[in-house]
Amino acid sequence: MCGIFAYLNYLTPKKRAEILELLVNGLKRLEYRGYDSAGVAVDAANSKDIAIIKKTGKVALLEETIKSKSSELDVDDTLDVHCGIAHTRWATHGVPSEVNCHPHRSDTDNGFVVVHNGIITNYKEVKTFLEKKGFCFESETDTEVIAKLISHFYQQHPNFSFRELVESVVRQLEGAFALCFKSKYFPGECVATRRGSPLLVGIKTATRLATDHVPILYGKEDHRKSSADKGI
Ligand code: GLU
Repeated sequence: MCGIFAYLNYLTPKKRAEILELLVNGLKRLEYRGYDSAGVAVDAANSKDIAIIKKTGKVALLEETIKSKSSELDVDDTLDVHCGIAHTRWATHGVPSEVNCHPHRSDTDNGFVVVHNGIITNYKEVKTFLEKKGFCFESETDTEVIAKLISHFYQQHPNFSFRELVESVVRQLEGAFALCFKSKYFPGECVATRRGSPLLVGIKTATRLATDHVPILYGKEDHRKSSADKGI
């Protein structure tokens, strides 16, 4: 079973090295679940783009790869607000390979990146729809349709918030999933969602939160209708 770990520091300055260490340590805590490959996505050294690092095999190998890219990643750079996402994969669609590793991306500019736990049962019909729209797929996974679909909605609804885009995506998905998204168009934001799979959100503050209430948005009843019924 795979694992997802994401870390967002909001107005809490962290070096890129610290963020990467937190993400890798998060993945190490999830290793017991079993996996075949691992990957992370963080803001690139220029802070405008997203850097994706993936590796088949153990998290320790991913850690070594990250260390070998220290200067390229500018690990001493300090980021006041940042979202990093990380994943250990248990392949269900497509062999364990670097291209099938998560995070998956919307395009070669890494506009949107996503990590996914679970299976998208209607991925073939979503993929056919997106191919007709001109999207080119690089992996054999079911997950890649999610990264492409959010990009499609972004093109259709440039004024939607990140959360609204993710809501639009999950309404089209069938199956079980926990997802975590990052985007170069929404720097410092992280959107996580789930259906069927578990998702744990932890919040740490220097002072007490003004409220104990953390708003969680629940999907509408129509989310199980197939994309064919709704004509995406
Ligand atoms: N179905 C996805 C894949 O094969 C996610 C598997 C997982 O939960 O790790 O990449």
